[in-house]
Amino acid sequence: MNAPRLPLKSLDDALAELLGFATALKGVESVSTFDADARVLAQDVVSALHVPPQDNSSMDGYAVRCADVSQALNVQPAQGLLPVTQRIAAGSPGAPLAPMSVARIFTGAPIPAGADAVVMQEDCEVVEGGGVRIKAMPAPGQWIRRAGEDVTRGAVVLSKGERLTPASLGLAASIGMNLLPVVRRPRVALFSTGDELVMPGAVAPEQMRPGAIYNSNRFFLRALLLRLGCEVSDLGIVPDRLDATVQALQGAAQHHDLILTSGGVSVGEEDHIKPAVQSLGSLDLWQIAIKPGKPFAYGRVQNAHFIGLPGNPVSSFVTFLVLVRPFLLTLMGVADVATKSIALPAHFTWARADKRREFLRVRRNAAGGLDLFSNQSSGVLTSAVWGDGVVDNAPGQTIAPGDLVRFVPFAEIMG
Ligand code: AMP
Ligand code: MG
Repeated sequence: MNAPRLPLKSLDDALAELLGFATALKGVESVSTFDADARVLAQDVVSALHVPPQDNSSMDGYAVRCADVSQALNVQPAQGLLPVTQRIAAGSPGAPLAPMSVARIFTGAPIPAGADAVVMQEDCEVVEGGGVRIKAMPAPGQWIRRAGEDVTRGAVVLSKGERLTPASLGLAASIGMNLLPVVRRPRVALFSTGDELVMPGAVAPEQMRPGAIYNSNRFFLRALLLRLGCEVSDLGIVPDRLDATVQALQGAAQHHDLILTSGGVSVGEEDHIKPAVQSLGSLDLWQIAIKPGKPFAYGRVQNAHFIGLPGNPVSSFVTFLVLVRPFLLTLMGVADVATKSIALPAHFTWARADKRREFLRVRRNAAGGLDLFSNQSSGVLTSAVWGDGVVDNAPGQTIAPGDLVRFVPFAEIMG
């Protein structure tokens, strides 16, 4: 048949257009800081105190007044002895430092009023019954962690639109936050299309009928969605029939922000996604100038967004990472969704430049360069397992060994 040829859209244009449709979700939840990893902050988090709350020692040693040490060294140069008048452990505030004395102090303990430096115990000699000999003149402020040097009272510690990390949970806890306001999870309905698809476990490998394949997309798409923090309704496989596709979409649109499908977005006769979505709402079929991953669809079914990914597994995988992921992050209110790349040297040759922008599956090697997986076909999922990222290769660009290329690590874009 003569499928209509659609003009190719650049990835940047497609992404900009897609993000334009991604209105941020409204709902806010208060979740335990324990459970907030990878969630997106719905409001700025402001500190009600200094961290650390007061000046404290960063060493085990002695809190001193530098002028007193200097005087002791002048009076008795051979000895410089000062008596120990108190002992301050972490968690217990000391008394003001008595003149011409030192305080035994431990890491994290508050600096007593009047002290202006800590001498680490390795630089002191304890004289039995006589006090402490400071071996070297301390510099004012040494080994003191200043109040507020991490966080000052009133400061915005974490910002709205920021995605929380394990370190941010720790920081939130350090200012006393046991609950955090986060954007509600996007609700995503996922289904696969294709009469050739069989679920692993439903039919044993040796009993697969000719033409059947296992549904692999469902597994990685579900996992990618979960890692992003979505609530996933996995609706299984929809048969290649218009009525079944319409029914599945209609049901899914009720309770979801996004309906995500894989397969059936080419313009073949068995591709029912387009007429089904159009009968319920609106749909644009895009041919995006990327490889793998050309066909892509965006539309609306009632109040839900609709995104149709290509069926070929690597195409599905790559289009998810470069388009669906930023789309979902934008729904969640993430401010910066740009994919960051690193310039690394290619340790391979890529002679067959394509007119589309390519995402080549590569792996970092011990020599600091990138190796290329031997088969870059859009059906070869092994490439995405072997690889630890992709090279984002400009249209028409060949690559020679030593060329600096744009590497996007999977670790960056898979959570
Ligand atoms: P389609 O986009 O439906 O034309 O599918 C393109 C190719 O991807 C065909 O070879 C399909 O068999 C394959 N495919 C589609 N969906 C899946 C899936 N869920 N898992 C594995 N392969 C798939
Ligand atoms: Mg199909």
